[in-house]
Amino acid sequence: MFSRMSITKSIKNCSDNIKRLRYALDLADAVVIGAGAGLSTSAGYIYTGERFEKYFSDFAAEYNFNDMYAGGFYPYETAEEHWAYWSRYIYINRYMDPPKPVYDRLFELVRDKDYFVLTTNVDHCFQKSGFDKKRLFYTQGDYGLFQCSQPCHNSTYDNKDVIFKMIEAQGYIINEDGTLILPDGAAPKMSVPTELVSYCPKCGKPMSMNLRADNTFVEDEGWHLAAERYESFLRKIQEQNVLFLELGVGYNTPVLCSLSASPRTKKYMIKQQLHRHPSKISKTEYYERRCA
Ligand SMILES: [Zn+2]
Repeated sequence: MFSRMSITKSIKNCSDNIKRLRYALDLADAVVIGAGAGLSTSAGYIYTGERFEKYFSDFAAEYNFNDMYAGGFYPYETAEEHWAYWSRYIYINRYMDPPKPVYDRLFELVRDKDYFVLTTNVDHCFQKSGFDKKRLFYTQGDYGLFQCSQPCHNSTYDNKDVIFKMIEAQGYIINEDGTLILPDGAAPKMSVPTELVSYCPKCGKPMSMNLRADNTFVEDEGWHLAAERYESFLRKIQEQNVLFLELGVGYNTPVLCSLSASPRTKKYMIKQQLHRHPSKISKTEYYERRCA
């Protein structure tokens, strides 16, 4: 009985929240969307389970990891193997469409509004669903871009051609709709040809992904232009009725609050992580800037 009441209450709250959001959206002159990884998870970009098994069961059997993130950190012995893993990872999470139309529905809701998107997501889902590139600021990079691993200069390079070649070199066939198939009975190769491994055109060091994983992240010209567009959008809408819609974010990747142009307060966070041994607790302390 108790649980039925809780569920009913929860559904009512959810329904009320949807109505409030619809009302706010209808009233808004402008919408600022802040999006984190949870939005892509809801669109079906899942890094474990069935999707992981489908594309990485050979790597999992060889190296004993259980999700795509873990495999991405594995120190493969050769560049050819590293890029076999990463080209599959980039292909299915950047060039292949997400399984569910979450981004398309979001676009339908805001396409006639004056909108801007600020996102930590690197999977290109907004652009694939029709969002205007000039109304997007992807702050943490893009799986579709390479940069010098050093880095010796601040340019990024489109990786579509080479990633597709790496995928095909492993034995996959790319269908017209972007899905991958293997010929009957074939197992994918776990390495790519040496000539497909990319190196920096200026210094010759290996290329890496343009992802904000450490202090080598390159903020290229496009990044700075997008930052300027975001700042000027915020200035333009200052006196307007604005809906700030933050979706799929956590404390690790706050979007709107952390990058607000005029933070007013700071929130002090301590993140604790319990290890297997109960006496071992690691703490990460940081300040989060707040926008309201
Ligand atoms: Zn270089």
